[in-house]
Amino acid sequence: MPKVALITSVTGQDGYYLAELLSRKGYIVHSINRHSSLLKKEHFEEIYQEGDKPCPDIHIHYGDWSDMTTLSRLLDQICPDEIYNLGEARRVITCADPAEYPNDLEGIATLDMLEAIRRVGLEQRTRYYQAFPSGLYGLISRMKLSDLASSSPLLLNIGDKCRDYWATVNYREAFGMYACNGILFNNESPYRSDAFVTRKITRGLANITQGLQKCLYLGNLDAQRDWGHARDYAKMQWMMLQQDQPEDFVIATGVRYSVRQFVTFAALELGIKLRFEGKGVSERGIVSAIISPNAAALKVGDVIVAVDPRFIRHEEESKMAADPTKARKKLGWIPETSLQDLVIEMVQADLVAAKQRARLEMHS
Ligand code: GDP
Repeated sequence: MPKVALITSVTGQDGYYLAELLSRKGYIVHSINRHSSLLKKEHFEEIYQEGDKPCPDIHIHYGDWSDMTTLSRLLDQICPDEIYNLGEARRVITCADPAEYPNDLEGIATLDMLEAIRRVGLEQRTRYYQAFPSGLYGLISRMKLSDLASSSPLLLNIGDKCRDYWATVNYREAFGMYACNGILFNNESPYRSDAFVTRKITRGLANITQGLQKCLYLGNLDAQRDWGHARDYAKMQWMMLQQDQPEDFVIATGVRYSVRQFVTFAALELGIKLRFEGKGVSERGIVSAIISPNAAALKVGDVIVAVDPRFIRHEEESKMAADPTKARKKLGWIPETSLQDLVIEMVQADLVAAKQRARLEMHS
């Protein structure tokens, strides 16, 4: 019998990679969506219907999932072996307003899902995974994070997320459910929204090489993040549900780079050598050499990166670090994609798109 998985959101990159992985492993994959998410639907089509990449076969159920009866009925009907509550982040386009910064999660409320599992008597059968973004640690992460199980609840003192995290732990301990939390540090891919800095950079620089944009405006170039590939993180999330005992894990590569370094790598992949001049809001990224025909439209001395203070977040932890040792030791998980390979994949995808757009604009 094939295993059955329910993913709460397949409209973003994390859902896509997970659905793709599970269908390759022979799972029957279900997902739930809200009726009203028109914007999300467009994004969904962009991810699933473009090119000739593997397209997972997903059974999508539409409804109001805040209604416990509807949710319980669905669980009863599909009897999932595994549930992945991804709670994918909806992001605002700019990060100028710190009040808008905390992620607005789209998944089903953790407690509703855990309670629905119990209500239909699946608590000994269904394995449950709850995802959290690393933003949970925004205010406290100057320290290195490693083993969550030994962390104090104060680390998660961010309202609802704190409640959700401990709800998963409580259902595991009180009802013997196989339930785990995963804290995902920044995970990127060509399907990342450009509300996130990596995609904004790869798309922006690719557009610049094709004459579609003059300059890429960013916030804090010194900010550092631990960036991994969303495909690797999907695998890790699956691995978390295949252990003998449920546990919580941090998902990260353990390696940190600055926004400036990401820009430099992306520019190089496009055949542009950059030098940075100036400090703070006056810093500029200037073309110092062109080393590929991809960037033939540019010339040495062009300013293609600049800082726009509107993109600087004043209320954030700018140097996020994580330690994935526990995942490596207990699950044998090692990220397969280096940052350089991630940059290459994202840049190449954005270059193809930019070239297409430039051709279209030329003919219109
Ligand atoms: P986050 O870690 O979930 O906030 O992911 P982001 O990709 O949005 O931001 C990563 C880091 O890049 C943060 O430290 C931002 O302050 C920094 N950053 C610098 N410039 C920008 C920008 O123009 N847009 C975004 N989104 N982030 C920027």
